[in-house]
Amino acid sequence: MPPAPNDSRSAELYSRACRVLVGGVNSPVRAMRAIGREPLFIDHGAGAEIFDVDGNAYVDYVCSWGALVAGHAHPAVLDAVAAAAARGTSFGAPTALEVTLAEEVARRVPGAEMLRMTSSGTEAAMTAIRLARAHTGRDVVVKFAGAYHGHFDGLLAQAGSGLATQGIPASPGVPAATAADTVVVPWNDRGALERVTQRREVAAIIAEPCPANMGLIPAAEGFLEFLRERADACGALLILDEVISGFRVARGGAGERSGVSGDLVVLGKILGGGLPAAAVAGPRELLELLAPVGEVYQAGTLSGNPLAVAAGLATLALLDDGAYATLAESTQRLAKGLAAAGGSAVSVVWMPGLLTVFFAAEPPQDLAGAQRCDLAAYGAWCRELLARGVYPPPSQFEAWFPSLAHTDEQIERTLGAARAAFAAVTEAR
Ligand SMILES: *Cc1c(COP(=O)(O)O)cnc(C)c1O
Repeated sequence: MPPAPNDSRSAELYSRACRVLVGGVNSPVRAMRAIGREPLFIDHGAGAEIFDVDGNAYVDYVCSWGALVAGHAHPAVLDAVAAAAARGTSFGAPTALEVTLAEEVARRVPGAEMLRMTSSGTEAAMTAIRLARAHTGRDVVVKFAGAYHGHFDGLLAQAGSGLATQGIPASPGVPAATAADTVVVPWNDRGALERVTQRREVAAIIAEPCPANMGLIPAAEGFLEFLRERADACGALLILDEVISGFRVARGGAGERSGVSGDLVVLGKILGGGLPAAAVAGPRELLELLAPVGEVYQAGTLSGNPLAVAAGLATLALLDDGAYATLAESTQRLAKGLAAAGGSAVSVVWMPGLLTVFFAAEPPQDLAGAQRCDLAAYGAWCRELLARGVYPPPSQFEAWFPSLAHTDEQIERTLGAARAAFAAVTEAR
């Protein structure tokens, strides 16, 4: 066991934070409760590394939950943001760069003829649902258990059992009536999806094409095609939530990689290059239901914010074919190394740009499978990794996000730490 890193400043900040911020954080997973420790307060980042307020360095695999595909403080992104900031940080009026960003997205993402930008993925998903309901004149939305589309009421619903059921609120404060319009189906379950779409008048099927919010659980062979087929058969829209997969798993996201296009696509994270930006994208016919052309209301004081747009454009400019090859290669190197280090106790699931180390002998196929993982062992392993200078996602139900900044040397160092951490966890049992 390496000497425990000093985290006294983090501890001090955490106790101050807990007095004025709920749980000491502004977003729950940051609290690290799922891995049984207190959060580290970050001082700064550079490339693939972050440095906490006590001066400890970590190879970072959270990378702002995937928003930072180019790594921390990339010079091109910083320059673009500084140049934008010098001209004023927000106008509440249109600017040239948001047009350029929308054009770039339209060139990349299948089906993204037009965009409406927002400040968060939550808002963009909410707008996509509103558009689908306005377009179809129906209320029911089908989502998959374990998929995350942001924290607004209508999608914070969960199945009461492993079967497709009427949604029940997954959070106090969500009205039962709101949750009742959400039907939750297990991921990769064709039968459940078929039954629901036959029985109910469905406005939209919303899915993460590369679900990564229950850990990474890719679609079974043909399942994305089946979503498309069911949506068409029942007159619902297919909404692909590519907030994570967009600009990550391929130049044009999962839509390009799988050949299955959504009627609406939700983008975020990489789109803002580490600043707040997201968007709903789709054909003119649907997007122009939105005000000011149509009657569906949607707005945002900071939507299309000049700094976020500049960061997003600078990030997309780095994402050429060579970058995708590099990202795929380093993800594969990391995934194979982690699988070899973990042996039969873990299964490592990966796609270009993201992976999950499941503490289960077989890769889970749905949320219930992910929940059967050895969560205590995952937590212990993460604590050991942190002690060895690697910052993993502090929950079994999240993905690792290697970036373009991760070097071979950093990946080797990560694998060394991972081997030692696996050994420590095994020994402790
Ligand atoms: C992060 C995420 C969201 C929500 O985006 P925010 O910007 O955090 O509101 C929505 N969908 C998916 C798939 C996400 O991973």
